[in-house]
Formats: sequence, C-alpha cells, structure tokens
Amino acid sequence: MADPRETVLEIDLGALEHNYRYLKARIEPKTKFLAVVKAYAYGSDSIAIARKLEALGVDYFAVAYTHEGAFLRDHGIITPILVLHPQPVNFDQLIARCLEPSIYSDRILKAFQEAAKAAGQRHYPVHLKFNTGLNRLGFREEDIPHIAMKAQQSEALKVISLFSHLAASDDRSESVFTHAQIDRFKSIVKKISGKLDNKPFLHLLNTSGILNYPEAQFDMVRSGIGLYGYSNNPDLDQELKPVATLKTVISQIHEITPGESVGYNRAFTARNKCTIATLPLGHADGLGRIYGNARGVVSVNGQKAPIVGNVCMDMLMIDISGIPCDEGDEVILFGKGHSAEMVAASAKTISYELITGISQRVRREIL
Ligand code: PLP
Repeated sequence: MADPRETVLEIDLGALEHNYRYLKARIEPKTKFLAVVKAYAYGSDSIAIARKLEALGVDYFAVAYTHEGAFLRDHGIITPILVLHPQPVNFDQLIARCLEPSIYSDRILKAFQEAAKAAGQRHYPVHLKFNTGLNRLGFREEDIPHIAMKAQQSEALKVISLFSHLAASDDRSESVFTHAQIDRFKSIVKKISGKLDNKPFLHLLNTSGILNYPEAQFDMVRSGIGLYGYSNNPDLDQELKPVATLKTVISQIHEITPGESVGYNRAFTARNKCTIATLPLGHADGLGRIYGNARGVVSVNGQKAPIVGNVCMDMLMIDISGIPCDEGDEVILFGKGHSAEMVAASAKTISYELITGISQRVRREIL
C-alpha cells in the first residue's frame, strides 16, 4: 500500500538510461563502463538502478562496503561488483557473494590472502588500488616490488585490475596536478607489468574525468554522479537529466503580519505581511537545518520560494508570498527543473551530499 505521507523521491529510470548512453557516447566503444552504485545508488534506489543498468549492459558495479554488494547479490544482480573499501571482518561474506575487493594496503592484502586461502579459493579476482595523489587509500609506487611479489606468491589471488582515483578531475585549474596523477598512474602500470603473470585491466576516471580527460580512459571508466544527472560542470549538467526528484505537497498556508515569527527559536521574523506554507518534510528526511533561514530555495508551481525559519525534524516552512498556489499543491525540493547542484550550492555543499542524504523514511517511487 502506498505510504500515506505525500513526500516522495521519484527515481526516473528513463533519465538514468539517457545519462548512461550520454556518458557511453563520450568514451571509446571498447572501454568498459563501471557504474558506482554505493550509498543506495547515490541516495536513490540501488536495486532499481542496478537492475536497469544491468539490463542496459553495464560491465561492472562498484560499492563502498561489502554489505552493499551483498545486498545487490541478494536481489539477483550478477554483474561483477568491485568493493572499493572492504574490511577484513567481512571477507567471508565478500567471497561467499562473489564480490571483488579493492586491495589497498598490506593489511588488506595479507588478510584477504588468508581469507581466500581458508575458503579454498584459487585465483580469486582482486583489484590493486594505487594512491597517485588523493592520499586517501592505496599503495604507493615504491610499494610495487613487494606487493607484486606477495600477490604473485599467492595462488589464492589473481590481480585482474590496477586502478587509482583522481583528486580534482572536475577542476580545470588543477589540470597540471591531474596530468601528474595520470602520469604517475602510467608509471606505476609500467613498473608492475611484467611482474604479474597476467595483464590486468586499468581504470582511473570518474565522471568528471570522463568529461575532462577522456584521453586517460584506459580499459574502463567508473562513473557515479553523472549517471544520476550531475557533473559539477554547468554546461554538461544541461546534457544530463536528474534521476532523483524530491517532491512534497503544501500541508497548510498561513498569512502572517509584520513582526510575527516562524518556527523554532523564532529564526525568521516577517518584515512585511507574508504568506507561509508548511511542508511535510524536515531534517529527519535529509533536508538539513543548513537549508533554513532563506538559504535553500524550493520550486512551487515553477516559481522559487525560500525556506524560512529553522528546518524542523518533520516540517519546514517556505515563503510563498506572491506565488499563486494552494494547500495540497506540489513542491519540488530538488530534481527535475530544480537542480540539486544549485540547491546544494545554497548551503555551500555539493549535489553528492544533498542527494545521498535523503533518508530511508522518504518513499522511493520508481518511474
Ligand atoms: N571511483 C571511486 C574510487 C570513487 O570513490 C567514486 C566516488 O566517490 C567514483 C569512482 C565515482 O565518482 P563520480 O561520482 O564523481 O563519478
């Protein structure tokens, strides 16, 4: 039965297909495509998204943690899944679900070798992660001789790919740094090839990398945000379509007079007579207090209305003065016609944070 509340996160699989085809058209036909579906597919619905992309022929998925990959397997996803940030405590589950770990440190290499051996595995596929400048996860170039030796000695593992992650592919002013990362990756690949029995495939680019550095696409690209309709690049954002649209309805409308305040702590006081609408969603749904006090803007019948006062747990108030609308009318918080990138910028953050933050209380409706 449909949830009686009226707040909904619409997931448009047609928009996903458009973005997938758009991004695929920007790479060589032979380059594989990995879809990043961590964090519930960037806050949307990982099962619906993964099923659609699998039907479209995507080559790989990536998640951050083992349980995210297990969730996909338990819902019938059979495409290879790379686990970007696995922990040894979950290695048995990872192997049981045929997930492929990123091996990013000596600790992980040793623990995974032991787990794979104990599970009777031979040539279990693993991906070696290198740190080329992000300084987050990964081996360094100088680690190559000993990791190659250790990986080689183990019958249990097979290194099927080498990869790294760019730090600033969305920022053209950092292109010198990005080119240095690309060069460092090439140098790593050169040093390690010949030390392994097989020829691993290579991958480096995220969405902005695909758009800004397509010459470094190697054998596979890894896209997340672009699939969901954003790219950090205003020109390209026009080509992509938002997959998730957060919608609600106006619960109640009040006319207030100058000097009257709105909401907790009286954070907004009317200077003029104004019309306030109350919406049934709040910070427990993922619209943080940071969007309160006229920072965030919503769309009411195609017109922009500021959020006023503090965002409450389950409600927020907007100023709809001069906007023709009624109780029960639809309001768009972000998505189609009201970019999450723009809303996020009002709180000095990025679309990734806004879209991944919509809580599980909000019903997902798959279109
Ligand atoms: N590759 C790795 C290792 C990541 O951690 C991520 C996302 O954080 C991606 C690819 C996808 O990045 P984007 O969403 O910018 O395309």
